[in-house]
Order: sequence, then C-alpha cells, then structure tokens
Amino acid sequence: MKRRLFERVEEQAPQLLELADYICDHPEVGLSEYKACMAITSRLQKNGFSVELGVGGLPTAFRAQWKIGEGGPRIGLLCEYDALEGIGHGCGHHLQAPAIMGAAIALKDCLEVQTPCTLVVYGTPAEETAGGKVMMLEEGCFQDIDVALMMHASSTGTGVDRHTMALTTLSVEYQGKSAHAAIRPEEGRSALDALLLAFHGIECLREHVPDEVRIHYAITDGGMPANAVPAHAAAQIIARSYSRPQLEQVVARIEKILEGAALMTETSYTAKRGRDLHNSIPVSALHTLLMDNAALAGAPKLAPPREKAGSTDFGNLCYLMPGACIRVSSDGDHPAPGHSREAAAQGKSQESHDAVLYGAKILAATAYDLISRPETMTVVQRDFLYAKGGAALAEGNQ
Ligand SMILES: [Zn+2]
Ligand SMILES: [Zn+2]
Repeated sequence: MKRRLFERVEEQAPQLLELADYICDHPEVGLSEYKACMAITSRLQKNGFSVELGVGGLPTAFRAQWKIGEGGPRIGLLCEYDALEGIGHGCGHHLQAPAIMGAAIALKDCLEVQTPCTLVVYGTPAEETAGGKVMMLEEGCFQDIDVALMMHASSTGTGVDRHTMALTTLSVEYQGKSAHAAIRPEEGRSALDALLLAFHGIECLREHVPDEVRIHYAITDGGMPANAVPAHAAAQIIARSYSRPQLEQVVARIEKILEGAALMTETSYTAKRGRDLHNSIPVSALHTLLMDNAALAGAPKLAPPREKAGSTDFGNLCYLMPGACIRVSSDGDHPAPGHSREAAAQGKSQESHDAVLYGAKILAATAYDLISRPETMTVVQRDFLYAKGGAALAEGNQ
C-alpha cells in the first residue's frame, strides 16, 4: 500500500512543484496570504475536498475535508504559507501546502472503505507573525482532529524536533514629559531613559535565570529628535523557555523591572502581552513512525531528533492532541541560514522540490499507519497523554 501511495505522490509531482514555485514567486506575509490560500484551496476543491474559507475568523485560513466510510481516525494535516517581510520564503513555508496536498490526494486516491477515516487539511496563516494557529485555536478550530501532522523544510537534515520553546511577547510603552533638551530640561521626564534602564535591568536579570531562558528586545520607538526630552519610547521584549511555568517566573521579574524603570524616571508605562506560544509535547511513537517512513521513502540526510528548537504556534496545538512535524532536508550541499535571503533564493532548487515529494510520502505513509492500525493510534494517544502528564508534573515541581 505504501508503494502505491508513493507512486501516487510521484504522479502528482508536476502539479505539486508548480504550486510550490507559484507560492515561492508570490511571497505574502502573515494574514495577507490571499494568492497562496486561493491557489491551494482551488486545487483541493478540484480534487474532491470540501473547502471552507476564512475559518477561525482569519480570511486566509481554511479547512478542507474528505471522508471515507464511517468512523476511523480524523487525521489533521496542517500547512503554513506565510513569507517573511522583505525576505520572501526564507523559512520554506511554500513547500508545506504542496507536500500536505500530495499526501492528502494520494491517500484519497488509494484508501478503501475498509479503512475508514476523515482527512482534514487546515491552512494556518501567519506562523511567523501573529501566531495564526493560536488565533484559530481560540476560535474553536482543530477540535475535529485526533492527530496533527505537519511538514517543514530543514537545513539540518530530515528529522523531528523533540522540544520547542514557550514564548511570551511584551509590547512596552513609556510615557514621559517632553521638554527642550538644553533649556529647562529638568521639566522633562525621559521615556527613553526609562526604556534604557529597563534594558539594563534585563541585562542584570540574565545572570539569574536558568541557562535555557532566552530574552531579546528591540526598540520600536526611540524618541526623536535628540535635542528634545523624548516623551514617548517603546520596545518589544521577547522571553523564551522550554517550560511555561519557568517562563512565567521570568516574565514576572521582567514586569517588575519595567515598573522599576518607570519609578526611577517618573514616567508611566504600559506592557501589553501578546499571544503566548507554548512549548511542544514530544510524542515519541509519532516521531518513530515519521522517521521509519522517512527511511522507507528514502528521504535524504536522516538525522537524530533535535532535542531543542525555537518556538512555533504548533506548540499550542500539541497540548490538545498528539502532534508532530517532519522536517525534511531541503538545502542539499548548500546550507543557508534560516530566515535569510540566501535561503529564500534556494526556494525552487532541486533539493526544495525533492523535499515536497519526500514530505508528501512521509506524511501519507504515516497517516496510513494511523488509519490502518488502530493499535498504533492507541500507542500514539498513550504516549501523548504520558508526555503531557509528565510535562505537567515536571512543571508543577518547579
Ligand atoms: Zn520561520
Ligand atoms: Zn517556519
């Protein structure tokens, strides 16, 4: 059966790669992925999937479904298609929808009524910016799938990530009082001073947080001109950790620093918290299935699981159901840094095209394992509950 699935993916290659190149050539940033969304959904519709546009209140999100028989698992196949502002597809998101579509159509063409299931393809916008999956979750999406599978391009071989980082964003604004910088400057209260003191406080905090915590910041308004006391200054602060409770402790201390900086400068401030991203829950049984099928498909550069990776809005889904993403080697012998123009320039390379087809084969075969062997699904569910319970237990002890 898996051979048939692989053949069916190969037969679709021209259409899948044409779609990948089209999305690559028309990069759209988060929540404005209209061309990509239309290109993907029109093809799914043409192939017999029922499509719902604008799910989760996001105009460029979609849900597509195909069902065979009664009952059976509900397999979620998720894809992103947003690009990076000023860079293009430097994260390889243009490869995801073609890979997901290749898997979904191969399954649809090969499955028979003895193996009932529902395939649900979710288009999830704005992974890089707004955390589209978190917004969709808040609106009730994803309650209709038993497992969530994804594909992502990779510059570190074909493999899976065991742990991704929880992330919290704070948008901070200080309000001071404007004055001439040389004539009666004592009447002014510098919002920029407050911001700089806050940054200094964060630098001091670095020494007193666990090694794995990451804190970054950028000034979004530094106050201008230099010969005036700036009345307004703003920044974005991001903190990350592999544990949400650990991160909450760090965020609480950052909030104290922000307050302290306001006190020192007699300014006022607001700190608006963005949507939180959660750390992922590693489901070993699902990782094993993906890697076994990667080997079966002959995917390049098979790599051991990455123990630590960055942050993704997929992490929030991983608390709801078993989820995993196969990262497929996509840069051959020409590695380029992630999120770079160099990576974007390789978007239509042979290796990128190969990654689409390997991704489709791995996902189709993994979905087939889950559909055709109920006991495998049971093991995946058990692993998920165990890992989730373990994470909760470990976090409760901190
Ligand atoms: Zn990215
Ligand atoms: Zn990405």
